[in-house]
Amino acid sequence: MKSILTKISITVLAVFSIFMLQPPERFTHYSRPVIIHRLQLFDALSLCVKRVGPAWACQWFTPDGDCHIAVPTDSPFGSVEQYIRHERAHCAGWSNWHEGGS
Ligand SMILES: [Zn+2]
Repeated sequence: MKSILTKISITVLAVFSIFMLQPPERFTHYSRPVIIHRLQLFDALSLCVKRVGPAWACQWFTPDGDCHIAVPTDSPFGSVEQYIRHERAHCAGWSNWHEGGS
């Protein structure tokens, strides 16, 4: 049982660590406006589940081409600035494979 819990814990940590990956320099500049939704952790999760799937933070485009990002203000997994940098990079074309992330 302990080993199963350990595996689950490692998996959970691995999933959350993806969101703290920081983008390569070429994706840190995005010239269009970004609409940032700063939300409490579970409100961000609730919104992101509807928009893209289970995630604490997410990014999406509206039909008019605006890029929206939702980030948690009280996440234990990283700062708001780290989440914004990560999600803004998705606005700039960084794929969900997080190529070149560190
Ligand atoms: Zn991402």
